[in-house]
Amino acid sequence: MKVTRVQIIARGLTNRCPNCGGRTLFKPGTFFKVNQICAACGFEIERGNDEGFFLGSMSLNFGVTLVGFLMPVLLLWCFKVIGDTTAGVLAGAGSFAFPTMFYRSSRSWWLMNYYIFLPHHLPANGGKGRSGEDDNI
Ligand SMILES: [Zn+2]
Repeated sequence: MKVTRVQIIARGLTNRCPNCGGRTLFKPGTFFKVNQICAACGFEIERGNDEGFFLGSMSLNFGVTLVGFLMPVLLLWCFKVIGDTTAGVLAGAGSFAFPTMFYRSSRSWWLMNYYIFLPHHLPANGGKGRSGEDDNI
C-alpha cells in the first residue's frame, strides 16, 4: 500500500487530500467550500450525490462541539470556576462559533475516518474512491 494509515491520519489532521497530501480540500480563498476534485491528483473529494459525507462530518462536528467545548463549559460552571453569566455567554456564543471554526477540520476528519478503515479505497492504493463502488455491495 502506497499511502499508509499513519499518512492518512497526518493528512486528515492537517486538512489535506487523503490521496496525495495536497492542500486541496477547500477552494482557495474560501472557508467553507469543499473542492469536488483534488486539483493535484484528481481524487474525487466530494460527490454530488454523496450526502452521507456531509452528514457524517456534521455529526462529528456536533459531537466534538458537545464533548470538546460545551461539556468543559458545563463542568467549569458546575464546579463554580466560572459564574452564571460567563457560562451562559460562553455556551451561547460558543455553540455557534466553535462548530464554525471546526468546520474545515470536521470535513477533513470525516474523510480521514473513512480511509483509516478502508485505505485500499484510495486511488493511490489502487482503489476507485468511496462508497464501496469497487466492492459491488
Ligand atoms: Zn490529491
